[in-house]
Amino acid sequence: MPYDQNNVFAKILRGELPNDTVFEDDEVLAFHDIYPQSKIHVLVIPKGNFVSFDDFTENATTEQVGKFFEKVGHIARDLDVDQEGFRIISNVGTFGGQEVPHFHVHICGGQKLGRMIEKK
Ligand code: AMP
Repeated sequence: MPYDQNNVFAKILRGELPNDTVFEDDEVLAFHDIYPQSKIHVLVIPKGNFVSFDDFTENATTEQVGKFFEKVGHIARDLDVDQEGFRIISNVGTFGGQEVPHFHVHICGGQKLGRMIEKK
């Protein structure tokens, strides 16, 4: 799937839409999810044009992938979710329930979370 320059997170990165920033540097942006599913719900995105976790881990360099996940860890600790525990999620594609086609990791915490996957 080619990268869609009009997806919501691309617009946020271009400054065309606002966001509630938690952390930003040259490579990543972290911001509060607009519809939080838990007390703390932050999204972390790379600034490069990657559609999904799948695209990112296939096409980014090992250094980019490593640095990205290192930063996700730092951001989670800065949010103070590490003591009680938290969850990171990356939805991929249709079956994964991905709504925004720019790779992102959800950091969810601040409360006891429900089951990871709803049983059908
Ligand atoms: P996913 O289903 O994994 O693609 O998650 C996309 C997430 O982006 C959802 O949790 C949305 O609530 C969130 N979202 C969509 N638009 C915005 C926005 N403008 N600012 C912050 N979060 C957003």
